[in-house]
Amino acid sequence: MSIFDKLESQVRSYSRSWPVVFDRASGSRVWDEQDREYLDFFAGAGALNYGHNNPVLKEKLIDYLASDRIVHSLDMFTTARREFLETFSSHILEPRDLDYRVVFPGPGGANSVEAALKLARKVTGREAIVSFTNAFHGMTLGALSVTGNSMKRGGAGIPLVHATPMPYDGYFDGTNPDFQYLERLLGDSGSGLNRPAAVIVETLQGEGGINSARVDWLRALQDLCRRHDILLIVDDIQMGCGRTGTFFSFEEAGIKPDIICLSKSISGYGIPMALTLVRPDLDIWEPGEHNGTFRGISPAFVTASAAFREYWSDDTLEKAVLAKGEIAGECFDRIAAGYPDHELVARGRGLARGLYIPADGVADKIAGEAFSRGLLVETSGPESEVLKILPPLTIEQADLERGLAIIEESVAAVLGAPTPSAQETELVAS
Ligand SMILES: *Cc1c(COP(=O)(O)O)cnc(C)c1O
Repeated sequence: MSIFDKLESQVRSYSRSWPVVFDRASGSRVWDEQDREYLDFFAGAGALNYGHNNPVLKEKLIDYLASDRIVHSLDMFTTARREFLETFSSHILEPRDLDYRVVFPGPGGANSVEAALKLARKVTGREAIVSFTNAFHGMTLGALSVTGNSMKRGGAGIPLVHATPMPYDGYFDGTNPDFQYLERLLGDSGSGLNRPAAVIVETLQGEGGINSARVDWLRALQDLCRRHDILLIVDDIQMGCGRTGTFFSFEEAGIKPDIICLSKSISGYGIPMALTLVRPDLDIWEPGEHNGTFRGISPAFVTASAAFREYWSDDTLEKAVLAKGEIAGECFDRIAAGYPDHELVARGRGLARGLYIPADGVADKIAGEAFSRGLLVETSGPESEVLKILPPLTIEQADLERGLAIIEESVAAVLGAPTPSAQETELVAS
């Protein structure tokens, strides 16, 4: 019996899909202890947007550690913290004309969400939060209260209160006007919905199954929030840091959220780090009213600053992400067209892509086939019905294409050979 089985809690999950012992990693590849190589289309659930052990970030990190600098600092001033704030301001906020105060809420994404919810409640003096169907915001109690998944919610062990789920974009397949229900509840003093402090939303739901909101829907949501004096929180923990192309996933929609949650790839190196960005006039906490031990992880500041300089000084990365995203999207469209009876649907934007596969358990089977062919790819959605890819943004095009080819093979291994597309049939006939 391995030490993992003997000592570690059975709550572990990813190690069940990929039952090997990983050891080394570089860029888009990882190796297990038997030296078997895998292409990584999971990228730490989006925590490794610049790949494993990115050499530019690594060099800065090694220099920092080798010169005995401050590693831990709570929220004391340090040179690394200053450098982070300066580069975040000059490379991310200023070029986008965004004005936010930076809260360091703790090391993980859930810390950022908790801080956002707490602050929204303090600012407005209200309790209620509106969330969306199939949202995922983290595993702590506040974050779980605005998360959709029933299995995860069940783990709370106490009632999850003061949050009301509303239909996300596309929930009714376009048969109902956007925000019909929410707008009606807000305007009706008999609706039973207390006036919300905030709405929390993902522009593209990753864990929820690669559900992408339209820019018009996001704009209408911002408009609704402003009309009703409700704060708009965008959880950009997984879809921010370039995952959809632009640094923030809401840039295309042109909205300006009141509060933004960032984590996963903000350090760029897989080192824990989270931010809660707040509109300056909402920055009303007393000193220490929200704090924590791990809010000054300098190695994360160092790699984050290096990533801003390397990847966010111009739009090279953004353009590359959009181009590679198109390649992935076309591949998923082609697969979907090859299996008309299975009602597959290609989803997503940028380098967050999904293939919806409604038949029970099939997406997981395909992910298993991919693993046996040396590709790490996960599933998401309420019934794990979406094959979900989050390759490193820096992936070489050849590796992207190789991974996509493995997905095509894995789909064929489970569903059989695709039917030739109309176009190919024509070619054959002529
Ligand atoms: C991962 C994630 C979180 C939670 O972050 P943790 O670091 O796991 O606490 C919250 N929101 C979204 C959208 C996420 O993808």
